[in-house]
Amino acid sequence: MDSMLNTLRRIVQEVNRAGSLHDALKIIVSRIKGALKVDVCSVYLHEEESGELILLATDGLLSAAIGRVKIPVTEGLVGWVAGRAEPINIVGASNHPRYRYFPETGEERYDSFLGVPIIHHRQLLGVLILQQFEGRFSEEIESFLITIASQLAGAIAHAEVSGGARKGRGERFSRRVVTGRAGAPGIAVGRAVVTDTECKLSTIVDQPAENIKEEIALFRSALKQVKKELKKMSTNLKGQIPEDDRALFNAYRMLLDGRSFNQEIVAQIKAGSWAPGALRKVVAHHVEVFREMDDPYLRERANDIEDLGRRLLKALVPCESSATALPKNIILVAEEVSAAMLAEMPIRRLRGIVSLRGSGNSHTAILARALNIPAVLGVNDLPISMIAGRELVVDGDSGEVHLKPSAKLKKEIRDRRQVEAEINHELEALRDLPMVTRDGVDIELYVNSGLASDIVCNPDASGVGLYRTEFPFMVRDRFPVEDEQFRIYRKVLETYAPLPVTMRTLDIGGDKALPYFPIEEDNPFLGWRGIRFTLDHPEIFLVQIRAMLRANAGLGNLRIMLPMISDINELKAATILIDQAYSEIWGEYESIKRAEIGVMIEVPSAVYQVELIAQQCDFLSVGSNDLTQYLLAVDRNNPRVAEIYDSFHPAVLMALKQIVVAGKKYKKPVSICGEMAGDPISAMILLGLGYRQLSMNASSLLRVKQSILELNAKSNRRWVDSLLKIGDPVEIYIAIQKRFS
Ligand code: PEP
Ligand code: MG
Repeated sequence: MDSMLNTLRRIVQEVNRAGSLHDALKIIVSRIKGALKVDVCSVYLHEEESGELILLATDGLLSAAIGRVKIPVTEGLVGWVAGRAEPINIVGASNHPRYRYFPETGEERYDSFLGVPIIHHRQLLGVLILQQFEGRFSEEIESFLITIASQLAGAIAHAEVSGGARKGRGERFSRRVVTGRAGAPGIAVGRAVVTDTECKLSTIVDQPAENIKEEIALFRSALKQVKKELKKMSTNLKGQIPEDDRALFNAYRMLLDGRSFNQEIVAQIKAGSWAPGALRKVVAHHVEVFREMDDPYLRERANDIEDLGRRLLKALVPCESSATALPKNIILVAEEVSAAMLAEMPIRRLRGIVSLRGSGNSHTAILARALNIPAVLGVNDLPISMIAGRELVVDGDSGEVHLKPSAKLKKEIRDRRQVEAEINHELEALRDLPMVTRDGVDIELYVNSGLASDIVCNPDASGVGLYRTEFPFMVRDRFPVEDEQFRIYRKVLETYAPLPVTMRTLDIGGDKALPYFPIEEDNPFLGWRGIRFTLDHPEIFLVQIRAMLRANAGLGNLRIMLPMISDINELKAATILIDQAYSEIWGEYESIKRAEIGVMIEVPSAVYQVELIAQQCDFLSVGSNDLTQYLLAVDRNNPRVAEIYDSFHPAVLMALKQIVVAGKKYKKPVSICGEMAGDPISAMILLGLGYRQLSMNASSLLRVKQSILELNAKSNRRWVDSLLKIGDPVEIYIAIQKRFS
């Protein structure tokens, strides 16, 4: 078992590092054949356009057949595996009615056949086949092949993208487009700037050196740069850290000066590898040697070598670029784009965002929408180590990233932009009209805010419905002190006064990490989030509340909102702390008012207790992003389950209804500040449920206003009542499509 697991791991790792699809497939067939000791291993990939399965690599069949054997999915045993999307393990293959003979393969000699489909995200990528002279393949081999095919699916998809950079067999499978999740609308063209806090050696693929001399020169210059950095760091830290720790820098330098490490890397380059690949191999070898040492001190040194490898890699493939070296049109690409990364970018040159992690309702997507920058998230298959400097197109509507944009596509983008500009121009004409439906129902629209750049009073907004205070916390390198917070909050309150500004207390955790307060949890969305964190840290909470209340002096438009309330006692405890802060500063500042306190309804327990909560606070606001996530048990940040994240699910609609009814019963205002509010179709459904206050990104405001102006609230309400009677989410989806198409 263990050895099978190791074999599996080794093959997958090797395939992940292959520099092209052709290499990846060659590795797959030869390693699997060797590990299982079978006569033939072949891989067919599915070509979508023709619907054919094409033999692209084989170890055992005649190599002349590669690229020539093409089987429609409706034919042959290979097609049968693909069509059924199931493994097929048979003997007497050539007598099988589905058997189709290809003389160029020489396969007539093999009696036994085992085929398993390779499926990635529900899509057929190809088929993996084993053949042997006789005897049915054992269950163990069958289960190994199923396991490895499922693991290789991702690696093959990845290689299809990476391989796109070079020519070679299998190039027709090179994908020009990778798909993720639509994060923020719009389309952008620019050059990829890969920024990542961690440059990972393990993600570096094998690639041949195009010019060996240049690769050696690149490596030597990286070496020089790292030595310089280490010297500087060691000098800077003199007297600040114990001498023993400082000695580490000298040890690093000695290793870099030593002949063996450098020479091994140069030798790898001379043997034909590009510099990053050579570095990865040599570092991996040294790490392995140290890890196997008996002496615990020496074993620990493996980490130092890894660290050194990372530094060299960073110098070799600059992951973070200085502002001056950045292209004019930036597409920011990172494993996980954070608020801090966005803050470091020259925002006027930032055209698009691509994040390997996250999904359409992640906070990165919310930030991108607030900044009005097209974004695609959850693009797992993007080979981040090969993308820097490439021209990309980010389509935030379809969730696609184009790796080799054609002139035709760029022209289409220009045309699309033109249409968008015209629509925006038309929307501008709605600015002065009153916010009222066709049949005279008044609606209030509010804005969601949190970025320094979006603090501009919007003439259509009735105020700020959600100010996410964590954003200013996330772009700093320490907790902001009270005066700093006071200045930020004062500016927002002053900008909107006398209109109300709803400030949410610090809501970190989940996918919102503070760089200076890392929270490591297995289930961060079920963990230390929002009010749970701040109640555990009253010193942070009290400082924030004091800063808010002080900022409210003389203005009186502050409303305080509590995130992630799941228990009435959290509301009570937070209210006591708010009262404490109020009594501490009362009298010190002229006309301080005790702000209204509201509760976010975003956890199912709060829905069930909404009547009780409504009686004990001043207003309610629905966090539909989290409410959907928690009601459906779908991580809003996980692209794998994005398909089932559904804010129109009957359970979500029923919860939304229950909340608005409770607010009315206890005469407490109820607004909604999740992303649903900013989508014109969702907004109409919310109005039909009885919501009259919607809070959204400023950029969505006019589009929602347009729908409101065209709406007949009465008939909309009747229609939404009928939606509430539907139990099947697909039927709800169809009903919505029908009404709005
Ligand atoms: C929500 O959950 O809907 C919400 C508005 O808060 P956030 O997206 O910041 O979690
Ligand atoms: Mg929330």
